[in-house]
Amino acid sequence: MNPIATRSRLREVRYEIRGQLARRARELEAGGRELIKLHIGNPGVFGFRAPDHLQEAVSSRLWESDPYTHQQGMPAAREAVAAHHRARGVAGASAEKVFIGNGVSELIDIALRALLDPGDEVLLPAPDYPLWSAATILNEGVPRYYACEAGNGFLPDPDAIEALVTPRTRALVLINPNNPTGASYPRALLERLVDIARRHGLVLMADEIYEGILYDGAAFEPLAPIATEVPCLSFGGLSKVHRACGWRVGWALLSGDPVRSGDYHHAMDLLGALRLCANVPGQHAVEAALGGPNTIDALCAPGGRLYETRRAAIEACAASPHLDLVAPQGALYAFPRVVGEAARDFDDHAFALALLENEGVLIVPGTSFNITDRRHFRITLLPEAEVMREVFRRIGRALDAHAGR
Ligand code: PLP
Repeated sequence: MNPIATRSRLREVRYEIRGQLARRARELEAGGRELIKLHIGNPGVFGFRAPDHLQEAVSSRLWESDPYTHQQGMPAAREAVAAHHRARGVAGASAEKVFIGNGVSELIDIALRALLDPGDEVLLPAPDYPLWSAATILNEGVPRYYACEAGNGFLPDPDAIEALVTPRTRALVLINPNNPTGASYPRALLERLVDIARRHGLVLMADEIYEGILYDGAAFEPLAPIATEVPCLSFGGLSKVHRACGWRVGWALLSGDPVRSGDYHHAMDLLGALRLCANVPGQHAVEAALGGPNTIDALCAPGGRLYETRRAAIEACAASPHLDLVAPQGALYAFPRVVGEAARDFDDHAFALALLENEGVLIVPGTSFNITDRRHFRITLLPEAEVMREVFRRIGRALDAHAGR
């Protein structure tokens, strides 16, 4: 008998962060190799824990977590998200407009599935977080990539975005602060993007899952307070800022023009109902996370764990003849570019495999983020600074070898 045929669309979908290289790493580990794995922004495996007040909120309410909740999430969690947005100036934010999901991942899929007809186009950043491309393709949409180049601090050019708009364009996605580049978008840029969305009737989708993770005085500019007249989904969650990615809780606020987004709200609600509800124990943490003490700023300030590891990465790249790095202003990653001698015939996948096999370090090749430039790679800033220094010593050796030094 023939093998079972799988969905043909899946052949266009990639999620290499957990792909072939990660499988090879598991094989090496099974054979007794010790690896440094910097491929996933998974705080828990680097010794981070969810803050105590979140742990307490979940464990003390576990006994009440048996029933399903409303498909959009439990009222207290939704109200906490709405209040968070009202506090930053989204006057119309209410619990009715909040959707709680099994991570932002699920909500990205729901948001696109509720919107797209076959052939509809979605404007996505390149590099992107590849779930956005995957969910667009699996929901029969077509990704249209706008470039965010290192030479421009990884910020997009609004005119280039507008030039991509066609009658089939439905949504404009931005990731701020950005994974994988660490760019943080200034208000003036966001205003331009809102203006494009308004003039072309697009839905704005702001993936703000890294919203509190910022360095060196960079400021987070939320999109929703600017997008007052435009349907806008703002995504956030427990996974990164609150270091509880295993709890699988994310949220999205649908704001802006309520008349235009009424049907869209119902469509998202229906898709939410089909999967019943999000993980209930984790929902108990949302109020504590958004209403409790800030626990992320200290990690991002000088002396803090993320800050010092980021500094180690920046210094290592500055000292390397082979690497250029736009210092990440936010999020949990560095996205260096290979330059000079080492860039000649450089292939990010071949390099990542050689680095894994020869140096025991797992990174993600830049083209996994849907760019064509093969000279980038991504590493997470979650390990201790000393580990980061060791990683760059090994990367330096591998690049020396490639450059023929
Ligand atoms: N969006 C971005 C930009 C991410 O980097 C991630 C995870 O790394 C997600 C969404 C998914 O997060 P969640 O754990 O909430 O599903």
